[in-house]
Amino acid sequence: MAATASAREILTLSGVVQGVGFRPHAHRLATTLGVVGKVWNQGGDLLIDIQGSPSQIQAYKTQLLAHQPTQAQVRTLHAQPAPIIPHQHGFAIVASLPGGMHGAPPTDLRLCAQCLAELFDTKNRRYRYAFMTCAECGPRYSLMRQPPFDRDRTSMRAFQQCPDCLQEYGDPTHRRYHAQTSSCAACGPTLQWHDANGALRQNVDPIAEAWRCLRQGQIIAVKGVGGIHLVCDASCVQAMATLRQRKQRPHKPFAVMVLNRASLAGLADMNDHTEHLLQGPDAPIALTPKGPDCDSRLLGLAPQCAEVGIMYPYAPAHYLLFHEALNRPADACWLEQAHPLALVVTSANLSGEPLIIDNAQCLRDLQGVADGFLLHNREILARSDDSVLQNSQPVVYVRRGRGLAPHVIELAQEGPSVLAFGGFLKNTLCVSQGDRAYVSPYIGDLDRAAACRDLDITVERLLETLAIQPDAIACDLHPDFYSTQAARRLSEQMGAPLLQVQHHHAHCLATMAEAGLRGPVLGLALDGLGLGDDGGLWGGELLLVEGADYRRLGGLRPLPLPGGDSAVHEPWRLGAAVLLSRGREQDAERLFGAHPGYAILRQMLAKKLNCPLTSSAGRYFDAAAAILGVRRHIDYEAHAAIALEALCRQTAPTPEAPPLFEITSQGALDLYPLLEALIDCAPHAGARLFHDVLVRGLLAWVDNARAKTGVNTIVLGGGCFLNRILRESLMAELRTRGMQVHIPRQLPPNDSGISLGQVWYAYLNAHAPKTHSIVQTETDPTPCV
Ligand SMILES: [Zn+2]
Ligand SMILES: [Zn+2]
Repeated sequence: MAATASAREILTLSGVVQGVGFRPHAHRLATTLGVVGKVWNQGGDLLIDIQGSPSQIQAYKTQLLAHQPTQAQVRTLHAQPAPIIPHQHGFAIVASLPGGMHGAPPTDLRLCAQCLAELFDTKNRRYRYAFMTCAECGPRYSLMRQPPFDRDRTSMRAFQQCPDCLQEYGDPTHRRYHAQTSSCAACGPTLQWHDANGALRQNVDPIAEAWRCLRQGQIIAVKGVGGIHLVCDASCVQAMATLRQRKQRPHKPFAVMVLNRASLAGLADMNDHTEHLLQGPDAPIALTPKGPDCDSRLLGLAPQCAEVGIMYPYAPAHYLLFHEALNRPADACWLEQAHPLALVVTSANLSGEPLIIDNAQCLRDLQGVADGFLLHNREILARSDDSVLQNSQPVVYVRRGRGLAPHVIELAQEGPSVLAFGGFLKNTLCVSQGDRAYVSPYIGDLDRAAACRDLDITVERLLETLAIQPDAIACDLHPDFYSTQAARRLSEQMGAPLLQVQHHHAHCLATMAEAGLRGPVLGLALDGLGLGDDGGLWGGELLLVEGADYRRLGGLRPLPLPGGDSAVHEPWRLGAAVLLSRGREQDAERLFGAHPGYAILRQMLAKKLNCPLTSSAGRYFDAAAAILGVRRHIDYEAHAAIALEALCRQTAPTPEAPPLFEITSQGALDLYPLLEALIDCAPHAGARLFHDVLVRGLLAWVDNARAKTGVNTIVLGGGCFLNRILRESLMAELRTRGMQVHIPRQLPPNDSGISLGQVWYAYLNAHAPKTHSIVQTETDPTPCV
C-alpha cells in the first residue's frame, strides 16, 4: 500500500476522544481501508497520521466520524496535509505524548451491555469478575493520575496484565484492544471482605458475605468507582433507622438502587425519559415522583419529599449483589425481570465530611457505622460523588459528580485563563482556557477541614491535568469563606490579580455564561444567603446585569434572622419574628410560644440584638413552613422548602386570591402579607397559596423592572430554582409574557454554578472594568441590628 501513497494528512480530533475506544477504532478502520500510519493521544486530543490515496483518506475521515465509538463526542476534526513519508508500512498505535488538555478529560462510564453479559456468562473467563471493563466502559477520571488516558497514568498501573489479557489488548479485532483498564481475576484488582472490626477475612467469598449482612438487616460499606458507599436493605425499617442514627442524618432523603425499571412498579412514577437518563453511561441518581407504594414499602426513605432518588447498578459489584440475592441464577433472564431487592445507597462519610475513598480511612472512620466492609485494592485517585438530576424538560442537574464531571462548558468568547474558587456550600471549582471552562466535580460544603483539603487537592489536580497557569483568580466577596482565603493566598503566590464577585451576581453570570449572554439582562437570583455589596445578607435579588457590571434593582423585603445562624436551622425563629413584627403577638405565642428560646427571641427582637436582616428567598420558604407547622426545625439545607413543595403538589392551584404582596416605591418585593395570611391556612392549602402568590409576586416584580429598563431577557439562578413548581410555573408565565428566559442547563442552579459565574465575570471584565452602582437595600420598618 505504501507504494501507492499519494497523500498524507495529520488529523487532530478534540472533544471526548480518550478513554472511549477511539484508538482501536482508528486502527481497525485503517486496516479495513488499507491506509498506513499511526495514532496516538496527545494531551487531551487524539492525533492520526495517515497516508494513502486522496480518496482513501477522504473515506477514512468520513468513516472515522460516522462509526465512532458510542461514548465518543468529537468536537472538531482538524486535517493538516503533510509531505509523504516513503516506505511506510502498516498502522500502529504509538506512545502518547503529554500536552495541554484541550479536550474533555474522560469521565467514569457505567458497565456496558456487552461486559454485563460476560459478567453472568458461566462459560466466560471473567464470570463474576468485579472489575470487568472494556475499551468502551468502566472507570476513567476516578483512577486517572494525569492525561493522556493510558494505563501507566492510572491506578491500574499496579496490575500487570496476564498473558490472556495482554493477548486481547494487542488484538485489533478484540473489543478490549487497547482497553487501558482491562484485567481479569488472574491479574486484576480483587474484592476483599473485612468484618465489623475491620479485620480482613481470607477464604470467604466477599459478595456472599456482603449479601449475608444485608439480608440480616446490617449496614455495609461498599467501595465503588468514585468513592465508598454505605448500603443497607431499603425495605428493612430497622436497618434504615440504624443507618440514620449512625450517620446522624435523621430526615435527609436517601437514594435507592434497584435492578431495573420492572422493579420500580409502585415505587416511582417512571417515564421513558427518566428511564433513558438512568440508563445513560453516566448512571446518575434521578429524582423521580414517588409511586403510591413508595412510603409504605420503603418506610422512612425520603420523608416529607414528593420525589425519590432512583439509581441503577453501574459497577459490576452492584450487579453481583443483586445476582447473589437471587442465589446466582445461571441464565441471564433475571436481569430483565422485577427484582425484589432495593438498596439504600448513600455516601460513606460522617455528616458533612467528604466522601471516603481510601480503604484505611474507611476501616478507621466507619468503625461502629458499618457492620462489614466490601472493599477492593484498586486505588481511587479522584473522589466523585454520585450525580443527581431532576427529570424535567430540560433536565436540571442537582449535583454533577461521577460520570458527568469534570465538565467542559463552551463559552461564547475567548478570555484569560481564570481559576475560580466558587462559594461556600455545594462548592465546585472552575478553570478556563480560551473559549472553554472546565468545572470540577462536586466538592461540597467548606465548613469542614477535610472538604477544604479536598478543595486544595482539586485545584492542583485541575491545573495539572489541564496544564494551565491562571492569569487571574476569582472568588466570592465573603472574606470568611475558605474558598476566598485560598484564592487570596494563591493570588499572592502567583502574582495573579484577584477578582471578587458578589454571590448573586455570580449566580446570574453562571446562567449567562452557559447561554453566551453579555447583557443587558434582568437577573433573578433566588437563593440562600450571600454577602451583598452593601455588607448585608442577600438572597432574593432582582439585578440588571450588563457586561461585568450590575445594578441591584431590588430585593425581597428583608426578614429578621433572630439568633443569626441558628435561625437558619430553626425556621420557627423566622416565623415568630415575622408575626411579632406584624403585631400578631397572640398568633406568635400560640404557634411558637412552646419553643424553648421563645422568650429570649422576643427580647432579641425588642432590643434589636443579634437580628441581622436578610432578603434571602430560602428564608421565606422557611418562615412559611414554620407558620404552617410543616417544619419548625430543619436538619439539611432546603429541608423546609422540600417539605413545603411536597405538600403543594398534592393540591390544585388556587384561583385568583387577593395579591398578598406589594412592590415598594424603592423596588423591593414585600411578601409579608402572604406570610401573615398563612396563619389561617391548613398546611396543604397554605403550601399551595405560598407557591402561587410567590410566583405572582415575582411576575409583577419582573414586569415592573421590565417596564423601567426595557430589557426583555431574564436569567434565573440560585438554589430555589431546584423547586420544580416555582421553576416551571415562573418560566411558563414569563414566556407567555414574551420574555426570553434562561436557566442553567448544564450546571445546577444552586451554588455549584458560582465558580462558572466568576469565570464569566472575568471574561466580561477583561473588556470593560467594573463600575458597580448599587441601589441601597431598603430599610426595614422594624430594623434590628
Ligand atoms: Zn464494556
Ligand atoms: Zn488477566
